[in-house]
Amino acid sequence: MNQNRMRIVSESDAAALHGIIAGSSVITVVSHTHPDGDAVGSCLAFRSFLRQQGKDAEVVLPDSPGEVLMFLEGAETMTIASENREKAAERFSSSDLLVCLDFNKADRTGCLEEEVDSFRGHKVMIDHHLSPDRESFGLVISRCGISSTAELLYWVLMALPETCGDASRLPHDAAEALMTGMTTDTNNFANSVYPSTLMMASDLLEAGVDRDRIISMIFNRHRENRLRAMGWLLKDEMTITENGVAYMILTSDTVRRFGLKDGDTEGFVNLPLAIGKVRMSILVKADGDRGFRISIRSKEGTSANSCAKTYFNGGGHELAAGGRLRCPEDIPATDRVSAAAYIEKVTAEFFR
Ligand code: 5GP
Ligand code: MN
Repeated sequence: MNQNRMRIVSESDAAALHGIIAGSSVITVVSHTHPDGDAVGSCLAFRSFLRQQGKDAEVVLPDSPGEVLMFLEGAETMTIASENREKAAERFSSSDLLVCLDFNKADRTGCLEEEVDSFRGHKVMIDHHLSPDRESFGLVISRCGISSTAELLYWVLMALPETCGDASRLPHDAAEALMTGMTTDTNNFANSVYPSTLMMASDLLEAGVDRDRIISMIFNRHRENRLRAMGWLLKDEMTITENGVAYMILTSDTVRRFGLKDGDTEGFVNLPLAIGKVRMSILVKADGDRGFRISIRSKEGTSANSCAKTYFNGGGHELAAGGRLRCPEDIPATDRVSAAAYIEKVTAEFFR
């Protein structure tokens, strides 16, 4: 086997995980709120692998993913806590192992935070975000210089004796889910692509993953409204500050006007980065009367993570982060004027 493949996950981490799985029978796999392709793909892939080993494995998510991701095999059998609190709570209390994928702290799991925090069995984290909360987890496999949790999980699985580094030994649906997670988190190989990422993609293609189908499922199956809203936002609603910060505000009126659903705005935040003078892009999206959800993307040399942490109660990766604007703690009202004033003020301070 190529030596590089062995270096991503240490033998001791692989052995520790193998031992924990072997000693567990009821396993729950969990991920973050507003689960994206990486979260859902990683969870479904790991569940499928565990079931192949004869384990009782289930996925519990805090809330449902966008419709676009529901093509993944088995997606409809995940437990969504916001829709079925009792079932989610029962699953947590009957599990002896909790596998936490694609998040670095329990508070990223929204309504499941308490269950994740107080879980008494083995707790494993496999994740690629900065600053993992190591104290709260028994085993932490965390890498930042990697495309996605799906990729990290791929290398974890390759390091286990069940696969011996052979991707064709993965269940087919797991291979497809891993390819999907990596593809969405890299924005189809546009960012955070490393030699190991291409190696993973190459292995999975060789193992029979149908990438063309995945691409058309993820990128070419949107509702018309999504593109109409995108066009309108870019044309009429994008502001660029003198520091090169582009921001777009999606109020609840806009969401209603275009009939936007969760997931419909995925990727909008990346678009303004195509403009040369834009260093950072911020998408502000109404989140009921609690305030706004924030997505931030930046170019090399500007830290989206530090901006999200300092001003938006959030965090993430160096160039892709997110957070929240809370009303009334951060802004006096949940309207466009308040959000715009806050962004103008804090980004001027950020670049001072
Ligand atoms: P997105 O903009 O796609 O929602 O999120 C981009 C990145 O920021 C993801 O890696 C996500 O995990 C992280 N992120 C999004 N929202 C939050 C948040 O509220 N808190 C933290 N700590 N990270 C977030
Ligand atoms: Mn991710």
